[in-house]
Amino acid sequence: MVRFEIRYRDACGRLGILETRHGKVETPALLPVINPNKLLISPKEMGKLFDTKIIITNAYIIYKHKDLKERALTEGIHELLDFKGVIMTDSGTFQSYVYGDIDVKPREILEFQREIGSDIGTILDVFVLPDDDHEEARKKVRETIKRAREAVDAKGEMLLACTIQGGKHEDLREECAKEMSKLDADVFPIGGVVPLMEKQLYRELAKAIVHTKMHLDPSKPVHLFGAGHPITFPLAVALGCDLLDSAAYAKYASDDRMIFPWGTEKLSELEEIPCHCPICEEISANELKKMEKEERERAIAMHNLYVSFSEMKRVREAIRRGNLWELVEEKSASNPLLMDALDFLREEKIVKWMEKFEPISKPSAFFYTSKFSLYRPIVYRYRKRLMERFVPKSRVKLVPEVEKPYSRHYRGLWKKFDGDVLVLSPFGPVPLALDEIYPIAQSVFPEKVEKDGCMDLLKRFMDKYKITEEEKYLEKGKDVDFERVKAVVDFQFGKGVSEVLLNGKVDIVKSERTEKIRNVYCDGKHVLSMRAHDGLFTLKPAGAKKLMRAYPPLRFRVVVEDEAVPFIKEGKNVFAKFVVDCDPELRPYDECIIVTKSDEYIAVGRCLLNREEMLSFNYGIAVKTREI
Ligand SMILES: [Zn+2]
Repeated sequence: MVRFEIRYRDACGRLGILETRHGKVETPALLPVINPNKLLISPKEMGKLFDTKIIITNAYIIYKHKDLKERALTEGIHELLDFKGVIMTDSGTFQSYVYGDIDVKPREILEFQREIGSDIGTILDVFVLPDDDHEEARKKVRETIKRAREAVDAKGEMLLACTIQGGKHEDLREECAKEMSKLDADVFPIGGVVPLMEKQLYRELAKAIVHTKMHLDPSKPVHLFGAGHPITFPLAVALGCDLLDSAAYAKYASDDRMIFPWGTEKLSELEEIPCHCPICEEISANELKKMEKEERERAIAMHNLYVSFSEMKRVREAIRRGNLWELVEEKSASNPLLMDALDFLREEKIVKWMEKFEPISKPSAFFYTSKFSLYRPIVYRYRKRLMERFVPKSRVKLVPEVEKPYSRHYRGLWKKFDGDVLVLSPFGPVPLALDEIYPIAQSVFPEKVEKDGCMDLLKRFMDKYKITEEEKYLEKGKDVDFERVKAVVDFQFGKGVSEVLLNGKVDIVKSERTEKIRNVYCDGKHVLSMRAHDGLFTLKPAGAKKLMRAYPPLRFRVVVEDEAVPFIKEGKNVFAKFVVDCDPELRPYDECIIVTKSDEYIAVGRCLLNREEMLSFNYGIAVKTREI
């Protein structure tokens, strides 16, 4: 079984570790495609120059070449390609797409991949064309599933990649993903997308990925076949692809096209090369143009790889920093066709799915970078929780945005007004009690942003709770710190949870320096601490026990196997394989309570995974244990 775990995450993207017989690979990873017939840049050189730990080559091409086939069978694929890292092989499906039928049996090519020692072998799936009608596509999908079932028995020690087909038919992608998830497969490639990328049909590409990912076992790495251009890397990764391969570096080099972070340029049209990779440092556009064809092709291929690998580093860094959505939107500014993909991601059904994977808070501030920014899952979550979790008063005072946090400016008004003070922000109306939580305070907007979404939400909010704008002021000011604690508890943990957690004498301790809330005590017990960086609460053991008494399982809980209990009691993290079940409402980086199967308290922690993931993953951490 594949060893794959998540270390960091953002959007639906994962920064993970994939373990194989030939070492560990950090994902998302770019796999350069090696043509065994034409080694433009040798795999060994690639390992040295780009530190690549994984490559992909075509087993069918080797199989068809008498000499290569013989050497592969006697020496093994790693010797043949002179590469010590991880080698994935493709099976000839793509050749069948380009040239029509190919003369190898599915079982034959699978066994061949195993025999030459491929680390990840791929089934010979049947390529569904973008314009295949439903019946044609269904036939191909059923055949692909049948072949995958047969392949599982023959995979041996090799990791098996079972490609998801289905073309543009959502129900067939669903069927294929569900059936494949039942099998002992190790990697799921998303197939049939190369024609979409060639025609830059990015909406269709996003659909193919999402409709597949929605129904796929989330614990397995997903490979996007043929996503070679860096312009699509952030989008593909943000939707949950872990492995991307690039044949583009060589293909483009063969007709003098250079890859850049924003697109592709013809060498003949460049006066200067806007790049500082080691190749472009040494050589000018003119010198490059004058080179012999073969030498030039190699130089451009090198440049293309430098750019592609560097862009993949940017994507991984964006996951660590929590600004992957910003990167996706930035790319769409360099190619408007990518906006079609972002437009598709605005659909409610899709955002709702993405929200389950979206972290509760992030290390970086929310940057408004395009008109799509306000459709990110974290905004959807804010708006939904405001409607469902915030307990409003009957009167409201609407005020314009000021410098953040808003409550510094409006504190006097907030204390005196007999109702809620709502700031009209681009996220929607923000009660002052919620103005310090992520991403409200941690956000950067230009001065003028459309507020249609805000006004629409405000209207629904006021109608739902029958709120008026009546002006009424209190003679004695109200306790706004207590109001903040209550509102944040309900927003973070659920409507009415503050009634339970704060049902006694509440003491709020503030930082003397920043005057921000630090600790919350109820009847002398420390129940919550507020984090300065995201304005959300850390749950303390006393608070967790109160919640457990009031709410039945599985609310707030992660249930673990008995054998893991002693380790967690020593402060060790909860590994996914020991999770029995958990609250479906938990989101990545949410606070949770770790309990035994008989619902005894063990510790409090912070989730790294959501429920679907905790129940699927067999490797890696599910919950970081914080306090016993
Ligand atoms: Zn360059």
